Amino acid sequence: MIVKVETSSLYVHIPFCASKCYYCDFNSYVSTSDVMDRYLDGLDRELEAVSAAYLHKPLQTVFFGGGTPTIFDARQSERMMEMLHRHFKMADGVEISVESNPGTVDLEKLRVLKDGGVNRLSFGVQSFDNDLLVKLGRLHDRDAVYRSWELARQAGFQSINLDLMFGLPGQTVETLEGTLKALIELGPEHVSAYSLKVEEGTPFYTWYERGKLILPHEDEEVQMYHLVMDTFRANGYDMYEISNYAKPGHRSRHNQVYWRNEPYMATGSGAHGYVDGVRYVNQKDVPQYISTTVSGERPVTETEAIDEAIQREDTMILGLRLIEGVTFERFRARHGTEMLDVFAAPIRKYEARGLLTVDETGVRLTEQGIFLANEVFAEFLGAGE
Ligand code: SF4
Repeated sequence: MIVKVETSSLYVHIPFCASKCYYCDFNSYVSTSDVMDRYLDGLDRELEAVSAAYLHKPLQTVFFGGGTPTIFDARQSERMMEMLHRHFKMADGVEISVESNPGTVDLEKLRVLKDGGVNRLSFGVQSFDNDLLVKLGRLHDRDAVYRSWELARQAGFQSINLDLMFGLPGQTVETLEGTLKALIELGPEHVSAYSLKVEEGTPFYTWYERGKLILPHEDEEVQMYHLVMDTFRANGYDMYEISNYAKPGHRSRHNQVYWRNEPYMATGSGAHGYVDGVRYVNQKDVPQYISTTVSGERPVTETEAIDEAIQREDTMILGLRLIEGVTFERFRARHGTEMLDVFAAPIRKYEARGLLTVDETGVRLTEQGIFLANEVFAEFLGAGE
């Protein structure tokens, strides 16, 4: 039985960055202001088309991701916000997030975003260690983080996420401690902390293959993960997802839509959307995205109707990333069937191994399970029939 869910979330991809970080395989390009203007022309048309294409409620969450959305100047930022409001109604209390990088903001731009309804900023800080930032190919240094932070607070942003990375080349538990200390002193409302993944097609991948990128040993990376978890938990943050920490009232509502396997619309080059049980992927190439959208066409290059069994697996694999896990009630409401009727085998297997815990409300990872999450998730693949 398929239960259709009306969406109230929108992702908008802005595929431009000031330069390309050495580890990055995101859909982002260095470009000119003129191309960005034309991209906004196309985005305007696509937002209009997407708003008309899907049954949706006033938006509860909007996420401008990248790339670096704050690479736009104040005029372009104002235009981006204006077109969002022209094509979509916002619900009361909507969460509007914008990803940013230190050094790409000024007060004028931030005020434009704030006036446009943005109430959550996310800075890609990654580290407070200047040597590591250079090794990552990041454009900013530690001082730029402090300057951007001050500007964001001055512009009135009360909900700021900082992204952090660990398991970096040359990083040690001690140097990570330094970054965590600096981060805690700053006191962001939310932190996302991910370990580095070396992705094919990046300079890091080439260097790794040639033995020129020396990463911390696996045991050290586990120690780093422990340190990250312990530090944030000890400093008033709620670890609500395996890589995300929030002060009370500051969980990312948009990202919870993904982890709960709920539908969302997506716009922008290379963006992935998920509506009515169908996943779609947009044209990645920016010039082609622009020419398709300005001619009034949707830039969708792939669609895939997600089989109900796979939807059930996704609900488990994504939902178990949340520390609260997946409740029986939510599973039933989403899929019209009982979780334990479908997934008894993987659940009981990992319950017996102490990696999952089951109570009357649902299923979640144990502390030990958090460290072996990928192994647990893999067991749900193909088990949703
Ligand atoms: S700032 Fe982010 S999106 Fe841009 S190149 Fe660096 S990692 Fe990639």
